[in-house]
Amino acid sequence: MNGVPVIVVHGGASKIPDHLVYESEQGAKLAALEGYKVLKSGGSCIDAVVKAVSSLEDNPVFDAGRGSVLNEAGEIAMHSLVMRGDTCGVGGVACIQHARNPVQVARIVLDESPHCLLLGDAGLKMARKHNIPEESVDYFVTEHATERFKNFGEYVKAVNGIYNTKEHDTVGAVALDCHGNLACATSTGGITAQKVGRVSDAALVGCGGYADNESAAVCASGHGEAIMKVNLTKTIASYVEAGLAPKEAIPKALKKMNSRVGGSGGAIALDTRGRWGVNFTTERMTWARIGGSDVSGVDKKFVEFGCDAVNIKKECVRL
Ligand code: ASP
Repeated sequence: MNGVPVIVVHGGASKIPDHLVYESEQGAKLAALEGYKVLKSGGSCIDAVVKAVSSLEDNPVFDAGRGSVLNEAGEIAMHSLVMRGDTCGVGGVACIQHARNPVQVARIVLDESPHCLLLGDAGLKMARKHNIPEESVDYFVTEHATERFKNFGEYVKAVNGIYNTKEHDTVGAVALDCHGNLACATSTGGITAQKVGRVSDAALVGCGGYADNESAAVCASGHGEAIMKVNLTKTIASYVEAGLAPKEAIPKALKKMNSRVGGSGGAIALDTRGRWGVNFTTERMTWARIGGSDVSGVDKKFVEFGCDAVNIKKECVRL
């Protein structure tokens, strides 16, 4: 075993309404703990991120798995990605329905198929072959998602409303295990009123998630179309590879995204030295980290911009 394992999770970047702040932060902490237990017992980073994201998917507070938002047809369509930093292996599903934990299907695509991304029923077929539990539509649709659909029945209205006024979103996790490997996992129901067949950045490598032991493991949340255009997570990882710390790479990439294509969002990142970062241009982002010291937050004023594992306390910055 090498060093202290670390996991960072997030529950979405947006203007999370006050009444959901507590539940959201608790959900992120619980997911981080679930993932950390895997790491602590010597398990792999990929097992840890899948465990953490499964916990977030099971929690109706988040827009992933149970709690996913509704598309323009009032249906659920989910997207997920896993990536391992040792081999750069990728598995993803897009527009999948019924699978209780899309992230577990993405993991199967990674382990059992020669492909990186399976769409719709192709993913579900794979899930069935590997006995991933399924649920009926009622399980996924929450009161909150239905309310959102009523408020933001049009996609553009939803994008403006969700990222600039209220609501909360996609989930993700990055982990560093005792063997020195990195992994990431993402999951989302996408954006309210999105077109049937829209693929989220959360299923696309280098957009919603990226992991490479030579740079960093990164997960993003925010307006997917903006994230895709600038390959947000790959950009952050490239900045780390070029010498920036994760806590510096995230704001730089978010600034670039905003100036080039005008979107807002947030990201978490972790490198093989255990240096990590979280930052966002939305009003809030839920996140939690375990390993070295345990911290979490939702509001800007509580953001720790990340730190070096070697000197966690000294380098953490509280605003
Ligand atoms: N990025 C996700 C999407 O566009 C949504 C989010 O993170 O809020 O599908």
